[in-house]
Amino acid sequence: MIELSLPANFSDSSHLPFIAKLSRIDGHQTATLVGEIGDELMFQFQDLTISIVQPVGEDIIGDIVFVEPAYNRVSRWIRERSDHNTLLVTERCDQLCIMCSQPPKKSHIDMFTFMEQACMLAPQNMMIGFSGGEPLLYKEQLFALLEKVHTVRPDLKFHVLTNAQHFEEDDVERLRQTAFKSVLWGVPLYASDPSTHDSIVGKIGAFEQLVTSLPIMARAGLQIELRSVLLKQNYHEFEQLSRFISSKLPFVSVWAIMQLERIGFAKNRWFEQFVDHSENSEPLMAAVSVAKSVGLDISLYNIPYCTVPQKLRGFLSQSISDWKRSFPADCEKCSVKSICTGFFEWHSTLEDYKYGGVI
Ligand code: SF4
Repeated sequence: MIELSLPANFSDSSHLPFIAKLSRIDGHQTATLVGEIGDELMFQFQDLTISIVQPVGEDIIGDIVFVEPAYNRVSRWIRERSDHNTLLVTERCDQLCIMCSQPPKKSHIDMFTFMEQACMLAPQNMMIGFSGGEPLLYKEQLFALLEKVHTVRPDLKFHVLTNAQHFEEDDVERLRQTAFKSVLWGVPLYASDPSTHDSIVGKIGAFEQLVTSLPIMARAGLQIELRSVLLKQNYHEFEQLSRFISSKLPFVSVWAIMQLERIGFAKNRWFEQFVDHSENSEPLMAAVSVAKSVGLDISLYNIPYCTVPQKLRGFLSQSISDWKRSFPADCEKCSVKSICTGFFEWHSTLEDYKYGGVI
């Protein structure tokens, strides 16, 4: 797994935290490389000397980092050579999904100033994600950040994960501005039956709010990526969900159907929640077929290539971020490994699937 948080030593541990770009040459907001002994790299940022041990096989030069001298830590917020960079807006959330991969916390640390600085330093044309918790609990700050960054860096694109419980009619005019044209909003919808959706997200009335918010987002011209996780709790309803999306939400840009991630709440509830689509692919096939018949764009996330029937393979996406992607040893012999999304590092095995294996 790629290390995102690196231990570091500083000449002054009382220095306040800051954002910098690790660079070989001096520039705006750069920590400049001044020495190298093996894997240990020395950088200079103003009066501060920073020493970082570079992980084996990786190049950290060009990364945008959050530097915390008091904690002897440098966090790689935006890696120059990665397409998977996501900034955590908050750990607070107003839903409590039964399979949440990052269970919420009550506390919140406002990092908007640092996130804005990091975005301003990002490589050209990069896509940057914002996640939580629920980022739109801080709607005003997030909208302001997106607007401000866009004025200076119109080349950047963003992906915001949100439960869409906080869009209001009054937001429409603001969201029609060009700053928001470069944002894809990832919104979870788990069932067309309100009670199934509400019980999965742990909030009564969430479905009702969602079907109110989605048309507001559409009127604002936002790009929407609906996201639905395969679960024992909703798998039998997937065809129905597909019919609902196809007929009532034709304005969405893409529907991402994703396999469960064995982390967070799902780790201890795996056998209550995980559904093996390789054993019974009918609900998935039916859902894709309905959506395809109306021209809806579909992507299948977190699904190993060999576990789905031929007909579905064209919809698979290499969705698992590079820093957490892994393959069990057997996959080394597989001819399609380069196009397979693989597994999450924390649960890298084909054992959950009845059908699948080296191709
Ligand atoms: S055997 Fe491994 S690499 Fe090959 S398709 Fe299956 S999961 Fe992917």
